[in-house]
Amino acid sequence: MHAYDPNNIFAKILRGELPCYKVYEDDRAFAFLDIMPRAPGHTLVLPKAPARNILDCPADDLAHVAKVTQKIAQAAMKVFAADGITVQQFNEGAGGQVVFHLHVHIIPRKAGVMMKPPASEKEKPDVLAELAKKLAAAIAAS
Ligand code: 5GP
Repeated sequence: MHAYDPNNIFAKILRGELPCYKVYEDDRAFAFLDIMPRAPGHTLVLPKAPARNILDCPADDLAHVAKVTQKIAQAAMKVFAADGITVQQFNEGAGGQVVFHLHVHIIPRKAGVMMKPPASEKEKPDVLAELAKKLAAAIAAS
């Protein structure tokens, strides 16, 4: 496995060098919307500490990311009136990983609606801003 690359896109977002549509932050985790969502409200949760994926992430950070994933999934169910949530997480290229800072996908689902293919279409900035605002408020209220 390769070493962690501090110049990956998500590391730059975590350092504030690139923008994102943030929905949640605490001392150990950070969450923002995927700009090419597979469904509206598609969110990514990351540990703040450098970790390429679950194979090198300290167990405590991974457990914290799981807790935050649950919190966001519960808020997303309510605020987007979802019928379900798909959680995905990929490790290494062979496992489907494209960006090499550990992240968990939280994808709100409507019954009978297929997810879009991965990275198929960039969502409009105003749409992402509105969804992020709603989700952030629901998480803060939870
Ligand atoms: P994975 O590494 O788990 O396969 O997926 C990486 C995800 O990051 C994809 O769902 C893709 O749409 C998303 N993504 C790629 N570049 C950016 C970016 O610059 N900002 C955000 N918010 N998401 C991104």
